Amino acid sequence: MSAQYRNAVGVSVMHINIVGAGPSGLYFAYLMKKTWPAWRIRVFEQNAHDDTFGFGVVLSGRALSFLSDADSSIVDRLLTHMQTWSDQHIILNGKRVVIDGSSFSAISRLVLLEQLQNICMAAGVEIEYRRRISDPARLSDCDVLVAADGANSAVRDAFPQQFGTEIIDLKNYFAWYGVKKPYPAHTLTFLSRPDGAFCGHHYRYTPAMSTFVAEVDAQTWTSSGLADMSEDQRRTFSEDVFHATIDDGAFIDNRSIWRRYRIVKNKTWHHRNIVLIGDALRTAHPSIGSGTRLAIEDSIALWRAFQAEGSDIFATFKRFQSEREPVRDKLNRAAELSIAWYESMAGKLQMHPLDFTYDYMLRTGVMTQERLIRDCPHFMAQFVAHAGA
Ligand SMILES: Cc1cc2nc3c(=O)[nH]c(=O)nc-3n(C[C@H](O)[C@H](O)[C@H](O)COP(=O)(O)OP(=O)(O)OC[C@H]3O[C@@H](n4cnc5c(N)ncnc54)[C@H](O)[C@@H]3O)c2cc1C
Repeated sequence: MSAQYRNAVGVSVMHINIVGAGPSGLYFAYLMKKTWPAWRIRVFEQNAHDDTFGFGVVLSGRALSFLSDADSSIVDRLLTHMQTWSDQHIILNGKRVVIDGSSFSAISRLVLLEQLQNICMAAGVEIEYRRRISDPARLSDCDVLVAADGANSAVRDAFPQQFGTEIIDLKNYFAWYGVKKPYPAHTLTFLSRPDGAFCGHHYRYTPAMSTFVAEVDAQTWTSSGLADMSEDQRRTFSEDVFHATIDDGAFIDNRSIWRRYRIVKNKTWHHRNIVLIGDALRTAHPSIGSGTRLAIEDSIALWRAFQAEGSDIFATFKRFQSEREPVRDKLNRAAELSIAWYESMAGKLQMHPLDFTYDYMLRTGVMTQERLIRDCPHFMAQFVAHAGA
């Protein structure tokens, strides 16, 4: 049953329910309430307000400018909590290559959520914590139901045929840890050992803390014995593998479970009055940009579609999919190439570090040699000198 009604001056007033208070649900809620203060915007979240997983999330310079276009005040708030850097480092078997010319920031996921919660509350969004929605029918007293409930979305999974959901488990295994060491830049550490190929993606998100994502290919998962270990043993083993990178320190656990990346795709992004955003809609491989950034961009795209179409929700959903899908498709193609690169990393770990880094930079087809020369002149000068030697 639709809850849409007209207020005293005959303007449509909508009631929007959002499942999930992650970055996509909260930012969408905020933008909608700010634009249409009379609309009722409610968010339902299974966890408490300060429960979170993961450590720091990365936002590229481009992601920040997207956020700023939608609302510059949020970027000002976030910047005071962010760590920023302009180089990327690749360390192959102990040899470091510096790639200049990028612009990235990272922030603690908990702080990001706190900031988003604060702006939502100030705008008048209603948020109910500790309220798990298992059956979307229980929230049908609204005009629009937004599924922002993450990669394992219960709302989406209630209609797999209607959304045309496809779930693909990738081959590599990974776990997300924290580490008490502030790395100077976004760094990828690759190690070739007798028991396999290992990769660590690490970046600081506070002056003292970094996120550390450890990754192995399918062959290494078995050959190193990781497959047969408990989670505690896997953490200790990973500390040993990366001991030089973490200064013989310890990995901090926060639901840090080794798993395979799961790619979620949906053919149709809406069904009846339900629309999918963020990880519920599509997950992204972190190697081509953070899921957080993509989730927030989805919220902005759906909000813009509402701005263009008003309370005609079917026109809004159609516009959202037709305008956002080409961008997501382009990223998906880049992600597929990046995934293939990581799945075959073992065969590349004997390359010269500069050749390896060049190969890495061009892996998705998005970066070209011309762009590298323009954007990363310092790295390219070294590469050209090495290639010509
Ligand atoms: C273990 C892990 C660690 C990660 N760490 C990082 C990181 O460090 N950096 C990074 O950039 N990205 C990280 N990611 C990816 C990133 O979290 C997501 O891509 C991004 O948060 C997507 O935002 P979202 O709002 O769509 O979904 P989520 O952030 O997943 O938010 C979904 C919300 O919905 C709630 N929810 C789920 N089901 C229900 C339900 N049935 N009823 C009510 N509430 C529900 C969840 O509790 C959650 O709060 C991590 C992902 C995982 C799985």
